[in-house]
Amino acid sequence: MSQIPLGPVSQRISCPHCRAEVSTRVEGESNTKTHLFALLLCLLGCWPCAPCPYCMDSCLVKKHYCPSCNNFIGQHEN
Ligand SMILES: [Zn+2]
Repeated sequence: MSQIPLGPVSQRISCPHCRAEVSTRVEGESNTKTHLFALLLCLLGCWPCAPCPYCMDSCLVKKHYCPSCNNFIGQHEN
Protein backbone atom coordinates (compact mmCIF):
# COMPACT_ATOMS: atom_id res chain seq x y z
CA MET A 1 0.00 0.00 0.00
CA SER A 2 1.44 3.37 -0.98
CA GLN A 3 1.56 5.90 1.79
CA ILE A 4 1.07 9.57 1.13
CA PRO A 5 3.98 11.43 2.72
CA LEU A 6 2.42 13.71 5.30
CA GLY A 7 3.94 16.37 7.49
CA PRO A 8 2.86 17.65 10.88
CA VAL A 9 0.74 20.41 9.32
CA SER A 10 -2.24 20.50 6.99
CA GLN A 11 -1.39 19.66 3.40
CA ARG A 12 -3.04 20.07 0.03
CA ILE A 13 -3.60 16.66 -1.49
CA SER A 14 -6.15 14.87 -3.59
CA CYS A 15 -8.11 12.63 -1.27
CA PRO A 16 -7.70 8.91 -2.11
CA HIS A 17 -11.25 8.29 -0.94
CA CYS A 18 -13.36 10.96 -2.63
CA ARG A 19 -10.68 12.26 -5.05
CA ALA A 20 -11.34 15.87 -4.10
CA GLU A 21 -8.54 18.43 -3.89
CA VAL A 22 -8.50 19.22 -0.19
CA SER A 23 -6.40 20.67 2.59
CA THR A 24 -6.25 17.95 5.21
CA ARG A 25 -7.73 18.43 8.66
CA VAL A 26 -5.01 17.63 11.21
CA GLU A 27 -5.74 16.26 14.66
CA GLY A 28 -3.14 15.55 17.32
CA GLU A 29 -3.69 12.23 19.02
CA SER A 30 -1.84 10.45 21.77
CA ASN A 31 -0.23 7.09 21.02
CA THR A 32 1.60 4.39 22.96
CA LYS A 33 4.71 6.57 23.14
CA THR A 34 2.69 9.33 24.79
CA HIS A 35 1.30 6.92 27.41
CA LEU A 36 4.75 5.44 28.09
CA PHE A 37 6.22 8.89 28.53
CA ALA A 38 3.48 9.82 31.00
CA LEU A 39 4.02 6.54 32.88
CA LEU A 40 7.76 7.19 33.00
CA LEU A 41 7.18 10.63 34.53
CA CYS A 42 4.99 8.99 37.20
CA LEU A 43 7.65 6.40 37.98
CA LEU A 44 10.28 9.10 38.28
CA GLY A 45 8.12 10.88 40.84
CA CYS A 46 7.28 13.66 38.42
CA TRP A 47 3.60 12.77 38.49
CA PRO A 48 2.45 16.43 38.48
CA CYS A 49 4.11 16.54 35.03
CA ALA A 50 2.49 13.32 33.83
CA PRO A 51 -0.22 15.04 31.76
CA CYS A 52 2.45 17.14 29.99
CA PRO A 53 3.10 14.67 27.15
CA TYR A 54 -0.57 14.97 26.20
CA CYS A 55 -0.13 18.71 25.74
CA MET A 56 3.18 18.53 23.92
CA ASP A 57 2.88 18.54 20.16
CA SER A 58 6.07 16.52 19.70
CA CYS A 59 4.59 13.61 21.67
CA LEU A 60 1.44 13.42 19.61
CA VAL A 61 0.72 11.70 16.32
CA LYS A 62 -0.71 14.02 13.68
CA LYS A 63 -3.62 12.37 11.96
CA HIS A 64 -4.80 13.75 8.65
CA TYR A 65 -8.45 13.56 7.73
CA CYS A 66 -10.31 14.61 4.61
CA PRO A 67 -12.55 17.61 5.41
CA SER A 68 -14.83 16.63 2.56
CA CYS A 69 -15.56 12.93 3.23
CA ASN A 70 -14.09 12.74 6.77
CA ASN A 71 -12.02 9.67 5.94
CA PHE A 72 -8.65 9.04 7.53
CA ILE A 73 -5.89 9.73 5.01
CA GLY A 74 -2.63 9.15 6.86
CA GLN A 75 -0.54 10.17 9.80
CA HIS A 76 2.72 11.83 10.69
CA GLU A 77 4.79 10.55 13.58
CA ASN A 78 7.67 12.47 15.06
ZN1 LIG B 1 -12.17 12.69 0.86
